[in-house]
Amino acid sequence: MVYCPECETDLDIDEDEVDEGAVVSCPECGADFEVITVNPVELKKVGEDEVEEDEDEEDDREKPKPYALIFGTVWDPDGHPLYGVKVKIRRADEKRAHWELYSNHTGEFAQRLPVGKADYIVWADVKGYKLPSGRQLKPGPEVTVHIDDDERSDIGLHLDW
Ligand SMILES: [Zn+2]
Repeated sequence: MVYCPECETDLDIDEDEVDEGAVVSCPECGADFEVITVNPVELKKVGEDEVEEDEDEEDDREKPKPYALIFGTVWDPDGHPLYGVKVKIRRADEKRAHWELYSNHTGEFAQRLPVGKADYIVWADVKGYKLPSGRQLKPGPEVTVHIDDDERSDIGLHLDW
């Protein structure tokens, strides 16, 4: 019995009648195999060694777009990370928040930004934010982040009572 190297289906080949160089197709997965040797039958997937690494092709492959990253943590005044706080980011030369996101369960947030020299202002919007204790938080000082190129900048947003 000769089995498909791809899917293990019985290819139903008569080992005494098959010739070297013959091409057999698997009825199950559709792969084509060339008979390399007989007795025992050895199969090689057709076209496998035609797949050569083409250097041009590699250059054409899409590269991940570069970006800058602000990675931050929101802290309460006692130094605990805070979940679910709305974080806003704007370019220093613009008035409105351009990005808005929320801190995750470990108080962290990450925002991708375009590559290039720019200053960004990051602040917490605690309007409507409720602590389980009922205490009201105040937004802490805004944080200015300077980005030069495509680097990652780590910051902390410290809230006040
Ligand atoms: Zn198969």
